[in-house]
Amino acid sequence: MQTKVSGVLPEAVNFMRQVDRNRIIEGAYPVSAMPRLSDSLSNNEGFATVKLEFGNSVGFASLKGKVTATLTAQCQRCLQPMKTTVTGNFKFALVNSEEELELLPEEFEAYLLEDEEQSIIDIVEDELMLSVPMVLVHEEACSDYMKAQDAAGGVREKMQAEKEAAHPFAALKALKGDKPN
Ligand SMILES: [Zn+2]
Repeated sequence: MQTKVSGVLPEAVNFMRQVDRNRIIEGAYPVSAMPRLSDSLSNNEGFATVKLEFGNSVGFASLKGKVTATLTAQCQRCLQPMKTTVTGNFKFALVNSEEELELLPEEFEAYLLEDEEQSIIDIVEDELMLSVPMVLVHEEACSDYMKAQDAAGGVREKMQAEKEAAHPFAALKALKGDKPN
């Protein structure tokens, strides 16, 4: 039977004790509590929601988790802040020693239990940092940048029209290739 704990998320717990209770822990951390992550963002607003499942997987104590957060980062096209939602999934086999670690099948990612308690928030922060795309740009229009581009685009269109006037067959070919179905 699984026991479920929701809401208040402690920063650290004893993982093996959660495994013994087959515990599912759900809750949230403020982004502001994750300084390594928020250093790479435009601001530290928002929350990361977390679901952790402690249990056993093919003979090993395991921790399965999912984290989701809406973060505010800088758009790399217009340099304005933009919101982006990132999600990360992870699964660890919990091992007590280097020897145990060597027994793990290769596909398992190991988490070495060293102290009495283990930090959940560190895992969540690591996972979110891995999940943030390397290049972030607004999906749609970048407000100010796009206005500037539109102005420049007007000039480009005019140049294109002049070019086509000089090569009428090229323009005709383009039209033919552009038949709607
Ligand atoms: Zn943008």
